[in-house]
Amino acid sequence: MTNPFDLSGKTAVVTGANTGIGQGIALALAAAGADVAAVGRTPAQETVEKVRALGRRAEIISADLSTIEPVGRVVDEAVDKLGGVNILVNNAGIIRRNDSLDFTEEDWDAVVDTNLKSVFFLCQAAGRHMVANGGGKIINIASMLTFQGGIRVPSYTASKSGIGGLTKLLANEWAGKGINVNAIAPGYIATNNTAALQADETRNRQIMERIPAARWGSPEDMGGAAVFLASSAADYVQGHILAVDGGWLAR
Ligand code: NAP
Repeated sequence: MTNPFDLSGKTAVVTGANTGIGQGIALALAAAGADVAAVGRTPAQETVEKVRALGRRAEIISADLSTIEPVGRVVDEAVDKLGGVNILVNNAGIIRRNDSLDFTEEDWDAVVDTNLKSVFFLCQAAGRHMVANGGGKIINIASMLTFQGGIRVPSYTASKSGIGGLTKLLANEWAGKGINVNAIAPGYIATNNTAALQADETRNRQIMERIPAARWGSPEDMGGAAVFLASSAADYVQGHILAVDGGWLAR
């Protein structure tokens, strides 16, 4: 019997793959059989070495996704170096914290451009390739702030709420073209992105008190959801935002 979670022969493009959730997802996809194009502004040397150690092919693609300038090249390079793009994981993202009364246009634009605008145009570039090549899987990285308001992170909340809507819109447009568009909404995961929260004793305690699993998540915790959504096991899953949050939203 074939394994519906097997990703052998697939190529995954993962943005922000050098660290954190992106690295965790890249390694999980590779362990399931995928080759990996590790996209980002910091070369994902460690990720590439670990993917190759798993017996898969891996290539670094340099791209600063604070603008949409590199999106076409990212897809072209993945096709040139690894033969195609079957899976796209839009993981690269940033956060800026400040009171909304003081929030600057720069902090708004930087976050929305990276977390939302570049995601859409990378979906578009990959989607064009996938439509012409029999389909594919797109996984966007959402957030608890796709569902909730958060505090002191207005551009981040806007971007991640936007990711929820965009994921559903693209699923509506592309489900009939063989592309599955879904999202993973990580809970509170110990990475660089949340270093400030982890270091803030009060916020850390408040967060821990609300997580039924009673621990911060790890990048590895995102792997199973990514493999599922990237695989044929999820062929009939469309426009879904899969929370991987230790139960945060259930509370
Ligand atoms: P992280 O460790 O800070 O990783 C963020 C990744 O995005 C890094 O690889 C980073 O590259 C890359 N990146 C940022 N700006 C970029 C740009 N302009 N061009 C290319 N790459 C860029 O944080 P993380 O927690 O793993 O975050 C990954 C994703 O998960 C983000 O979308 C984040 O919003 C989301 N998320 C995280 C949590 C959490 O609790 N940690 C919860 C929900 C959602 P550099 O290393 O070069 O900066």
